[in-house]
Amino acid sequence: MLGICPKCGDYKWDKNVSEDKQYIICQQCGHRWKFKSMPLFILTGCSGVGKTTTAQELLQRDTRFLVMDADFLFNIMPHDTNEDYRNWVEQILSLSKNIMQGGKPLLWTQAGALEYYEAAYNRRFFTEIYYLAV
Ligand SMILES: [Zn+2]
Repeated sequence: MLGICPKCGDYKWDKNVSEDKQYIICQQCGHRWKFKSMPLFILTGCSGVGKTTTAQELLQRDTRFLVMDADFLFNIMPHDTNEDYRNWVEQILSLSKNIMQGGKPLLWTQAGALEYYEAAYNRRFFTEIYYLAV
């Protein structure tokens, strides 16, 4: 929804983001619309290291960010090929950019596939991505 141009209705995945990360720019008509760009946080580590325990503890506190587990998408998406992992990361980022329009950044727990973040199309919608390995 955030990526659909409100002026011409273009819904293709080819939007640009202004250098100051304040506006999305339609490549078809040039229209610009404001969005909230925020940092994204990834809590990572091997299976069993304590990501979920840490996330559960964070859920009990008042935080300025939302806490989500990337496994819920992993479990409903194919994950056999590199392309599958790339798509998984794109979906995490797409979901995050839409949710953060509510005013809070997200922290995801995720065990792998971090190498796909920086090259992802949806990376452009975030000011920074911080990775914390436990
Ligand atoms: Zn447009």
